Amino acid sequence: MGESGCGKSTLGRTLIRLEEPTSGKILYNGTDILSHDRKKLKWFRKEVQMIFQDPHSNLDPRLTVGESIGEALIIHEIGDCGSNVARLMEKVGLPPDFASRYPHELSGGQKQRIGIARALAVQPKLIIADEPVSALDISIQAQILNLLIDLQKEYGLTYIFIAHNLSVIRHIADRVAVMYLGKIVEQGTTDVIFSSPLHPYTRALLSAIPGKNTERLQLQGEVPSPINPPKGCRFHTRCPRRMKVCEELEPAVTGIKHTVACHLYK
Ligand code: SF4
Repeated sequence: MGESGCGKSTLGRTLIRLEEPTSGKILYNGTDILSHDRKKLKWFRKEVQMIFQDPHSNLDPRLTVGESIGEALIIHEIGDCGSNVARLMEKVGLPPDFASRYPHELSGGQKQRIGIARALAVQPKLIIADEPVSALDISIQAQILNLLIDLQKEYGLTYIFIAHNLSVIRHIADRVAVMYLGKIVEQGTTDVIFSSPLHPYTRALLSAIPGKNTERLQLQGEVPSPINPPKGCRFHTRCPRRMKVCEELEPAVTGIKHTVACHLYK
């Protein structure tokens, strides 16, 4: 989680190599996927799928619902396309007669169900869901979230779920990583992060939750440019607890199960 522009989506897209990183490693089951050739990358893209934020622009308007879901099955040469499409549509709650409809005939929630069916088609182990409900009406958001939770239980899926809505995160996540200006500043179980946040940025984000019995911490100033981030701690230009050291030295990550990158914690 983190504010818009902090790098959540870029990180998600980089994990699946839709963006190429400029440095570093992407380890999946201990193997760096940056070393994968085309054949191995095709296998990896079957293991790891993505659900995108905007269901309106992520479907080919020339393909019917059935063709859209079947496309992934054909690319990865998976079983009988017709019966698999029907099964997947049932799983995501789309009536069978929708198979011959085009995207412009569907609502946002229905289009996102197609996005989920497409991701499920290749039987992935991990799904990166990039703000999958933020473009939908509030009334539809809960339906899609509950669908994702049900599918996770049924298929034993792991999600990396990118979001900025704190209620959504609390509802769906087991563990939370908080990002600020391209860096993960705190990580822990959802219960720990929401009940005992350590990083001043996390504290400020969570203090905005309505009904919380804590003082609202208003962050001052603009988010700096990620192209030219501040020296030292990237959050120091807005941090209410900043010290001299914060302007010079980037804080190391400390902790084991609950990690934080902040000079207040050794
Ligand atoms: Fe604030 Fe300093 Fe901690 Fe950064 S390192 S969050 S500036 S106290």
